[in-house]
Amino acid sequence: MKVLFIASEAVPFVKTGGLGDVIGSLPKALNKEGIEARIVLPKYEDIPQILKKEMKWLKNIRVEVGWRNQFCGIEKIEYDGVIFYFIDNEYYFKRKGLYGFYDDGERYAFFCRGALEILPHVDFQPDILHCHDWQSGMVSTLLKAHYHNNSYYQKMKTVFTIHNLQYQGIFPHSILEDLLGLGDEYFTIDGVEFYQNVSFMKGALNFSDRITTVSNTYAEEIQSSFYGERLEGLLQKRKQDLYGVLNGLDYSIYNPSTDPHLFTPYNINDIEKKPENKLKLQEMLGIEIAQEKLLIAMITRLTSQKGLDLVECVIEDIVSKDLQLVILGTGEERYEQLFKRLAEKYPQKVSANICFDSKLAQQIYGASDMFLMPSLFEPCGLSQLIALRYGSLPIVRETGGLKDTVIPFNQYTEEGNGFSFANYNGHEMLHTIERAIETYKNKDLWKKLVRKAMSMDYSWKQSAQKYKKLYQSL
Ligand code: ADP
Repeated sequence: MKVLFIASEAVPFVKTGGLGDVIGSLPKALNKEGIEARIVLPKYEDIPQILKKEMKWLKNIRVEVGWRNQFCGIEKIEYDGVIFYFIDNEYYFKRKGLYGFYDDGERYAFFCRGALEILPHVDFQPDILHCHDWQSGMVSTLLKAHYHNNSYYQKMKTVFTIHNLQYQGIFPHSILEDLLGLGDEYFTIDGVEFYQNVSFMKGALNFSDRITTVSNTYAEEIQSSFYGERLEGLLQKRKQDLYGVLNGLDYSIYNPSTDPHLFTPYNINDIEKKPENKLKLQEMLGIEIAQEKLLIAMITRLTSQKGLDLVECVIEDIVSKDLQLVILGTGEERYEQLFKRLAEKYPQKVSANICFDSKLAQQIYGASDMFLMPSLFEPCGLSQLIALRYGSLPIVRETGGLKDTVIPFNQYTEEGNGFSFANYNGHEMLHTIERAIETYKNKDLWKKLVRKAMSMDYSWKQSAQKYKKLYQSL
């Protein structure tokens, strides 16, 4: 079986969040299950030069974008046993950054069309097109509209995975014909129309053969008005075709015993070495160097999705406790300022790192005792899985994938791998942090919990098998 992943980011080429991790690791896991999975990505300027140099040019073709006829270079690379294709067009992709441009509708209309057009030229005829998030959301609509009479494409089935329903790719009606070459018959409630605009997400949800999202709880949640982002009705309608498949981690990368970024590697049998990472990190970040000091970490996009208003609400209460707080993230100005100010006020206790730094992220996972992730919603969440793997116990709100992966500590049975709270409420979060602090004081119990967290299996194996079954059912 041949599966083509069509997506907008993948490790190690480009990553802005969990999507990049997933696209960079799931195909490898599928290949182990006997599926031939390949990936197509835009050739962005931000891809490291060393990887760009390895790319092999295959061919130049032309791609229709509405009435336009655009250049499309096809390049290829084999990385870690997986084949990636790149769609090259400097006008669309030679810019700093991935998203957020005035012409994103045009850029990703080109990408969706290009991903379909390159296939006959690369000698890979997929059985399944597996698309991810709005940037590849138009593929199933374009397939139906422009290729249904073409025998090369006729048997292809489509799967669409929602990694985050909040980002939908909504553009004015004018792009329908101008960029997508679609007639007004597609501008309906059962097509791509969404409150008088064109929605890439809606096209995907209406025209893909199967829809998946990245945890069972999120699959349920998005059928309700609170989480459904005004698409809950459509998701309810397609519920028979909607599946939750939890994301996994690439355990060969996220492994505290081999991670080259850690100051001191450790494993489940020598967790006594873990605090050495804390001492080094404290020294590097210029906060108080003290091995016993409880260190809470946050590594996150600084957006409201991540529960930062809860943190803001009780921040002084948190910092008044005997602990240290290390933050790594970029995003909304309001939160960047909040953490910068806090670090200035409490230089020994708080370290605010307002940047994107994958090496520092690993050092923080390795050094921290707890990982705070009080999300408003969380489709799956990879950060808490990485934290578990590195023995940093997650403190989370019970939503989406956080609910499905973090087992709340039970003081009577001493079972669990983290701490959680249900309501989106700052004081409920604070209370949960206080419970975690109390538990941390019992050193033997804490070690037991750390070992439990590190022994959880959130690798890709099980989820890759679920995707395989889903593909086979098509
Ligand atoms: P999302 O995809 O919503 O951003 P996830 O928890 O699924 O959230 O994935 C976030 C990924 O991005 C994790 O691998 C996390 O470590 C990483 N990450 C987030 N912010 C930063 C940052 N500022 N620097 C380095 N890595 C980051």
